[in-house]
Amino acid sequence: MSDRMDEIRSTRAPRLRTDQIEILKRYGEIRKTEVGDVLFRAGDTHNDFVVVLEGEVKVGDDFPGEARTIGVFHEGRFLGELNMLTGQAMYLTGVVSEAGEVLSIPRERLKEVVTEEPNISDIILRAFLARRSYMMKTGLGLRIIGSRHSGDATRLREFAARNRVPHVWIELEDDPKADALLARLGAKPSETPVTVWQGEDVQKNPTNLDFARTTGLEVDAPLEHTYDLVVVGAGPAGLGASVYGASEGLSTLTLESVALGGQAGTSSRIENYPGFPAGLSGFELASRVLVQADKFGARTAVPQEAIGLRRENGHFRIELSEGGEVVARSVIAASGARYRRLGVESLGPFEGVSVHYAATQAEAQQCEGEEVVVVGGGNSAGQAALFLAGRTRRVYLLIRGEDLGKSMSRYLVDRVLKTGNIELLPNTEVRELVGEDRLDGLLVEDNRSGTRWTLGARALFVFIGAEANTGWLRGIIDLDERGFVLTGMELDGSALDEDVWLSRSREPFLLETSMPGVFAAGDVRSGSIKRCASAVGEGAMAVRLIHQYLADADAQKA
Ligand SMILES: Cc1cc2nc3c(=O)[nH]c(=O)nc-3n(C[C@H](O)[C@H](O)[C@H](O)COP(=O)(O)OP(=O)(O)OC[C@H]3O[C@@H](n4cnc5c(N)ncnc54)[C@H](O)[C@@H]3O)c2cc1C
Repeated sequence: MSDRMDEIRSTRAPRLRTDQIEILKRYGEIRKTEVGDVLFRAGDTHNDFVVVLEGEVKVGDDFPGEARTIGVFHEGRFLGELNMLTGQAMYLTGVVSEAGEVLSIPRERLKEVVTEEPNISDIILRAFLARRSYMMKTGLGLRIIGSRHSGDATRLREFAARNRVPHVWIELEDDPKADALLARLGAKPSETPVTVWQGEDVQKNPTNLDFARTTGLEVDAPLEHTYDLVVVGAGPAGLGASVYGASEGLSTLTLESVALGGQAGTSSRIENYPGFPAGLSGFELASRVLVQADKFGARTAVPQEAIGLRRENGHFRIELSEGGEVVARSVIAASGARYRRLGVESLGPFEGVSVHYAATQAEAQQCEGEEVVVVGGGNSAGQAALFLAGRTRRVYLLIRGEDLGKSMSRYLVDRVLKTGNIELLPNTEVRELVGEDRLDGLLVEDNRSGTRWTLGARALFVFIGAEANTGWLRGIIDLDERGFVLTGMELDGSALDEDVWLSRSREPFLLETSMPGVFAAGDVRSGSIKRCASAVGEGAMAVRLIHQYLADADAQKA
């Protein structure tokens, strides 16, 4: 076996030392096993964490007709997956294939291990993360059958991918298995997309919430409680706020409408996050923070979308899309932004690999010396083009209109036009992305003549603006002209809640919105930096200010 394979195997299926197993014995109990014993089944949410002490256990995908073994575990190896720490359902089934003995640790006690035994917990967490990556790459468990032209199929696939739910995509048009499988499940092609969980639980065009419930993905938290702090959005800012809130004694609930990790969760490698010199994926960052937040008692509800907010008797009521409300003494809006994507169908598979929404050293390194395309006519596109021109062979700058000076500052236009290896292509739009694992080229079109040609670019940088996720706050708190949340000094007399501020003796806190007690952190905030580290930092800072706000509110009551 090569060194690389050895390294992968030792991360994914590490063998615990005897002294480490002795420590773990304090958290669970030893039990005998017989051939055929099912230690956990796909769909389980309450199974124990298992260390094999003697004998053999096979873990596999038991989809009918396509069952296969994924891993074989012997003495000293442990079973399980990230879901054991996040409270979600198992994707695979573990069956004893050789009688012996196992150490069983209940999920709740595994959390104690994470808190109390940092050395062992690091081995477990790394293995869990590596196993999830492997399952995502291998494709197993859930089946999604649908057409590549269907918007609902795309929605479900994106939801599964964002939540890192291992799945197999069966395409109606191309996969010869599709028709037979649909017939066996009693579904017609017109009823697709169809999802099949554990080989039998069939859903026809489920909503994201149905899908989450069926696959045990839903992370539920009691909603009838009054929380000290409700955080809306579980990107870096929201997750940061939830760790700091819970660790500083505030009862904290985070609501997330799609998937933990936010935009960062879509990044395959964040290279500039302090403390991780080798970089880390957005999913790994989010998973680590989630486990940490859970350790401090923070609650997270996914998928739960906030659709409204109002203040009533000194408390905040956050309205949820699926009905019901959550009550909080303070709120952090950390609902982030969505980078505008190009309306090109073939974009998805290349995102995070060859399609970027930022141009930093990290992205530039991936395409050093190659040809790249930058799309956009604003300052961020101009800055990116100049930055990339110094690191790549050629930059094609594509704008939809005729004139670069329309929305880009003059000094940038001059510099762009003077830079020899930037080629401006006005009236040009991307029509298709070409390539297998990485981008090989872009089919572009002159939008006046309809002429199409291919640019041999290896990376695409998209800077066509970002939209704030503030639909749930519109008309409730003050937003800037682009829809981002105004905070602190920026409010300056424009507050919707002017009467509230006038009746008070203090100015808004730094990250406080026009509604006292509601704060904003991260990309959703007007003037924010749009970086992971700054979002996490603002989440932490907002919590600090909430302590002041709550102390103030308590003092007024007394
Ligand atoms: C592909 C990509 C790569 C990137 N790479 C880097 C990088 O390498 N380094 C770096 O520093 N930055 C990078 N960034 C930028 C960075 O990811 C963002 O600055 C950061 O994620 C902002 O965090 P946030 O928590 O403020 O918002 P977001 O990450 O946008 O998270 C907001 C969350 O709120 C949820 N939400 C929205 N509305 C609601 C609602 N009404 N109810 C409940 N939930 C809601 C969303 O689903 C989302 O999960 C990258 C961005 C992208 C898109």
